[in-house]
Amino acid sequence: MATVECRAIRKVYGALEVMRDFDLKIDDHEFVVFLGPSGCGKSTMLRMIAGLEDISGGDLFIGGERMNDRDPGDRGIAMVFQNYALYPHMSVRENITFGLERAGTPKAAIEQRLSPVVEALGLGVYLARKPTELSGGQQQRVAIARAMIKTPEVFLFDEPLSNLDAKLRGSLRVEIARLHRDLKTTSIYVTHDQLEAMTLADRIVLMKDGRIEQMGTPDEIYQKPATVFAAGFIGTPN
Ligand code: ADP
Ligand code: MG
Repeated sequence: MATVECRAIRKVYGALEVMRDFDLKIDDHEFVVFLGPSGCGKSTMLRMIAGLEDISGGDLFIGGERMNDRDPGDRGIAMVFQNYALYPHMSVRENITFGLERAGTPKAAIEQRLSPVVEALGLGVYLARKPTELSGGQQQRVAIARAMIKTPEVFLFDEPLSNLDAKLRGSLRVEIARLHRDLKTTSIYVTHDQLEAMTLADRIVLMKDGRIEQMGTPDEIYQKPATVFAAGFIGTPN
């Protein structure tokens, strides 16, 4: 059961408080989008869930277990970044399998897990290439494949489509929605783009200045924005 629960989570950098009173319960298989303007704390919150940032206060539970001090590799999560973060000197295949190899997974088992992932993302013909020989969209597919092969219970996405053109954004958005459905994962997806939020989310968590401004289904937030900020942010096209 991959529920995610944030209880009164807080984050400070020195004297600067960038997150406070962050309370959220995410259901198993839910697709939650953190939406908000640049600098509101979306990446910081996601990185705390991933274990890439320390939590300054409060508690984080994944699957009912307290994660505050748990290593990133031991949280059942996988993360996809805006800038792909692929290893330039490795082939596509090596980029996808490196994590499993490092964890000592037997070669046969790796091959078995590789083929459905490669098929799901249409990467078969690119396996021998280096990341620099791929388009941005193909590189992001590799990054998603690398996350997927870990068979995470929780998928974390930090603005994965922001560096892509509009057409690719549309098609990869559909693929991400499909993977979420087929793999039955729980997904947390960070974006500043309300269209992405409206089309992907079961529930939107609208953030402002390091706290939650409003949360609800896309319909609820669109139809009943609770504040002037929410009305402005959801209503304004990019
Ligand atoms: P978002 O992803 O919504 O654009 P971030 O989570 O990146 O926002 O940043 C939230 C706030 O925390 C911003 O004010 C940012 O400047 C600050 N911040 C992020 N990382 C650090 C850091 N390592 N040191 C100090 N301040 C930081
Ligand atoms: Mg960010």
